Amino acid sequence: MALPRPPEPGVLRDPEVDRLLNQPDHQGLELPHSRQVYTNRSMNLEDTHLVGFDMDYTLAVYSMRQIEELAFRMTLERLVATKGYPADLVCLRYDHEFVIRGLVVDKAFGNIFKMDRHNHVGRCYHGRRELKLDERRALYQTNEKIRLSLPRFAWIDTLFSLPEACLYAEIIEALEARGIDIDYHKLYDDTRDTIDEVHRDGSLKTELKKDLGKYIEPDPELASALHKLRSGGKRLFVLTNSLWDYTDPVMSYLLDGRLAEYASWRNYFDYVIVGAQKPAFFAEHKPFTELRPDGTVASTNVESFERGRIYEGGNLFDFERLTGYGGENVLYVGDHIYGDIIRNRKASQWRTCFVVQELEKEIEYIDEHRDEVHKLNELDALRGRLDDLINHHKLMLNSLDRKLDRAAPALAQELEAMRTREKRDLETLRRAFKAAITESADTERRFERGANAYWGLVFKEGNENSRFGEQVQDYADLYTSRVSNFLYYSPMQVFRSPRAAMPHERIRGY
Ligand SMILES: [Mg+2]
Repeated sequence: MALPRPPEPGVLRDPEVDRLLNQPDHQGLELPHSRQVYTNRSMNLEDTHLVGFDMDYTLAVYSMRQIEELAFRMTLERLVATKGYPADLVCLRYDHEFVIRGLVVDKAFGNIFKMDRHNHVGRCYHGRRELKLDERRALYQTNEKIRLSLPRFAWIDTLFSLPEACLYAEIIEALEARGIDIDYHKLYDDTRDTIDEVHRDGSLKTELKKDLGKYIEPDPELASALHKLRSGGKRLFVLTNSLWDYTDPVMSYLLDGRLAEYASWRNYFDYVIVGAQKPAFFAEHKPFTELRPDGTVASTNVESFERGRIYEGGNLFDFERLTGYGGENVLYVGDHIYGDIIRNRKASQWRTCFVVQELEKEIEYIDEHRDEVHKLNELDALRGRLDDLINHHKLMLNSLDRKLDRAAPALAQELEAMRTREKRDLETLRRAFKAAITESADTERRFERGANAYWGLVFKEGNENSRFGEQVQDYADLYTSRVSNFLYYSPMQVFRSPRAAMPHERIRGY
């Protein structure tokens, strides 16, 4: 990317420096915004000796719509078969637009809502009906602060959990349309238990394994990205909660035979750990077990790690001891904001990169609608200016009123004329303010509904960052849309976070 020329004296004024600064990098490619790696906390990749990857939704990019529909259908069928829900509910359809990551389920009222970074409840649905502003205020703008740690709330923070939020809303909609009273808490717990069961007993993964091509989108640049990191002298590892019988076919599908130097996917990685049970991996002390390639246990007493072997379970402390790497020399790349990033960050000194698949679509959308974003910013500034002017003119009018009360008849006529002018100006400003609010609300609605008709952008809620966006900013050192984006960066890349600015610093030109 061409860099802006800093207005500094000395060597930076050298035309040769200028020429070099304006040369494109990335082998002449201008990397699109949607494929860049973004930095919350600066780090130098040269200091990273070990790079670890989660598998599901990190190395393996799933075709969201296909896998969500499968999980939705399997869970619904099982709810009907085992929990006594009406048989015709199996006709419900999955609406992949209706759920996004970062939503909250309120089991007390059967609602789903999105929050901003201040825990303020934004858009909210009961079943498929959007709550009106006064309904939302009555429920969520009381003195009681919303604490997501309460059992009343469930945070939809993984892509795996999107289908359960959709199921919850669809079942509420369908049953209430028939006048059936629902225990919202129980319905959520039934849905959660059933979806867990579909995952735990292997039935979902058995279906996936039957046709990996249907559910996984192989990334043609993944193998080269991993190879580039290895060529830069880094060791790689896989740390996944999936078990060996699923990890092996998925990883084979992703990487086997992609590059001549690597016949098997296992050649890319120095350590392979399956069934890691994150977040417990970062908090508890479960021992490692060594597995044979057929999945049977080879040893329960793991005293050293060897390249090419397969390990299961384990914990952070033993991992660092057995690999000889730890702290800031390890970068872990994952897609689960809690299990891969937050819990990891609290227990270890590892650096983290959050893979957020939705970012690609979201950035492309914002880029395509740059004019609307610009217009929204301008309207915000205009509203602020008009608001200040209205207050100023109100004060002027009050002061004229007071003067008129006490004025001698000779002055009264002049003051009255001034008062009329002030009143007219105030009316003009009020009309403009009202128009700016309407225009801003219309533009915002159009812009957000274009991204997602129900929830708007994943990372934003109104003017604020969404709670999800805020967590990404707080806990992930880096974030990006897919692992292969590292292909466009040097293994010695210094990722620099933008200069932090408090609101008082954000003045024009700073
Ligand atoms: Mg994952």
